[in-house]
Amino acid sequence: MKTLTCDLCDHTVSGETFEAWMENLKPHYMSAHADFMEQNAHGDMQKWMDDNRARFDAQDESFALLPFSIAFGAAFGVVAGVLIGSVTDTIAFSVALGVSFGAGIGIVASLVYKALHSKD
Ligand SMILES: [Zn+2]
Repeated sequence: MKTLTCDLCDHTVSGETFEAWMENLKPHYMSAHADFMEQNAHGDMQKWMDDNRARFDAQDESFALLPFSIAFGAAFGVVAGVLIGSVTDTIAFSVALGVSFGAGIGIVASLVYKALHSKD
């Protein structure tokens, strides 16, 4: 499964293959870029396909790690929350805070990972 942004905006679309990704992109294109579709209806769609296929092939799958990073960060946050909470006697508050921070750290970590491994 790969997740790529639309070539015209920041909308993200996922697909197992380039063909599946194209299918999933279509509804977004119809609604968000109807003008572009109209202007390019008689244009060079093959070039557009080739460009997007190259983009799809170049994309690594690290973005798919995001849910795992959040889960791992949240799990780490629970542990940290229990440890801090047992010392300060505010376990419920500390665990809630730990999960929030942990999930946040997980998101940031996966974004950093993605940025470091981006081939753009
Ligand atoms: Zn778009």
